[in-house]
Amino acid sequence: MIIVMQKDADEGKIRHVIERVEGKGLEAILLRGEQRNVIAAIGDKREIPTEYWLAIPGVEKTVPILSKYKLASREVSPQTTTVKINDCVVGEEKLSIIAGPCSVESMEQTLCAAEAVKDAGAVALRGGAYKPRSSPYSFRGLEKEGLEILAEARRKTGLPVVTEVLAPEDVEIVYEYADVMQVGARNMQNYSLLDELSKFDKPVLLKRGISATAEELLLASEYILRTGNAPVILCLRGIRTFEDHTRFTLSIGALAHLKRVTHLPVIVDPSHPAGDSNLVPPLAKAAVAAGADGLLVEVHPEPENAYVDGAQSLTPESFNKLMGELRLIASAVGREL
Ligand code: PEP
Ligand code: MN
Repeated sequence: MIIVMQKDADEGKIRHVIERVEGKGLEAILLRGEQRNVIAAIGDKREIPTEYWLAIPGVEKTVPILSKYKLASREVSPQTTTVKINDCVVGEEKLSIIAGPCSVESMEQTLCAAEAVKDAGAVALRGGAYKPRSSPYSFRGLEKEGLEILAEARRKTGLPVVTEVLAPEDVEIVYEYADVMQVGARNMQNYSLLDELSKFDKPVLLKRGISATAEELLLASEYILRTGNAPVILCLRGIRTFEDHTRFTLSIGALAHLKRVTHLPVIVDPSHPAGDSNLVPPLAKAAVAAGADGLLVEVHPEPENAYVDGAQSLTPESFNKLMGELRLIASAVGREL
């Protein structure tokens, strides 16, 4: 159940409601919103009548949550929750385009990519320092050195940094350097990693697992949301199906569904489902047309020399061209870039 507080309910009233919720043996999670604050009361409350809650000062209404996911549900907040990454706000009318190489390979490669994506209008830099690879013999990232390179790219360009964290024991060090901590598709159901991330106060970019349903993605987000510390941005990146004409299948239907059932911002990674740089622009454009709040795009200064995912990486020139095309689509659907 969600307890929606009145617009003018002060901190004292909020604390009082939390105490009453906890007094009934329920867990209280405070979710601060721009318009008003709500308190999620989690647990079995069948015996407590609605009137009990309505009688408490500052309470406007209660809303039962029927879905399995509670905090991510649209029922909690009719408005899309915005997530601030420095000056960029994900979930606003302005789309958040995050771009950069699949992995951090060197200072020169990262700085070159960072300058290029910034010039084209990206609001944040992506780049993996810890890489999940299907084969243990592949390049697995520069780790701490990669984080330092990303920090230097942020210093030089002002772009906030989005980078992946692979294991619970790495959260602390990635937290030190990153502006957004990315959970990759292979880790969406790594619940000890999600629990660890929930203790920190940095936004988490949570990617859909390769074989996870939309509901499982939302339930995974609850692990992070339940402490109230870290906001979550969802990211669709394609799932495995019988189709083999693309690397993964990007479900635009899942995007439309998620935008309807959750208030969390949802962005789309068109690069991993495409697997081929020629297919990235159409997927990116489809995602923006269908209501994505942003994109996560792989861009490499020299895709043919990339250590990882060169075939799906855009050159700075093709990324710049894509941004121009996206501007037109964004304005057609009431967004801007
Ligand atoms: C990535 O973003 O580079 C990545 C590894 O993505 P995914 O987890 O979606 O495969
Ligand atoms: Mn990649």
